[in-house]
Amino acid sequence: MKIFLSSILSQGFTLWMKAMFEKRKCIISSIVILAAVTSPSALRAERWNRKYINSLPDSAFASVEQRSDGKRVRHLPHHDHRGKIDLSHLWNALARINQVKWVDPTNEAVARHHLEEHAREYKRRVLADRERQFSININEAPMEELMKLPYVGEARARGIIDYRTQKGPFQSIQDVTEVRGIGPGIFEEIKDYITVEN
Ligand SMILES: [Zn+2]
Repeated sequence: MKIFLSSILSQGFTLWMKAMFEKRKCIISSIVILAAVTSPSALRAERWNRKYINSLPDSAFASVEQRSDGKRVRHLPHHDHRGKIDLSHLWNALARINQVKWVDPTNEAVARHHLEEHAREYKRRVLADRERQFSININEAPMEELMKLPYVGEARARGIIDYRTQKGPFQSIQDVTEVRGIGPGIFEEIKDYITVEN
């Protein structure tokens, strides 16, 4: 029991380390992606002319203020007429938020929070997409690749390699459950990350 527990604990730690490692890779690449998306945004942002921006509803802006003369000022548009976030305008709005002349300066923090929430949501989506793309071919992956799979340590990775060496390539991803130590529970954890190309 003690050995069982400690192996669970150490596996948990390995998994956590893997997750941190993968996250770091993801964060770095998402920053690269963000940077790539950000740079041409200033150009694309010009597509929204004054007339188009004026036609947008209040909800397209990060902040709507009223001046003392009663005139309304709307700042930092970033949703299009359908309500969809326009990424180039979102990055643009974040970049020029400190150039805005606020009627009430406390609105800056509210607008910033609103825009940053969109940016965080976008980053979450990029990370989730990248996570889905992470896949390992169990017919070809070497030991260290297989060990990137959740719950797969040295023993299970060796089991996969021994299996394909002795019985030939896996025909479907379900076949991996025939490997000693990989039951339906582990299969559930790894099935989204494995493929069986030959
Ligand atoms: Zn918004």
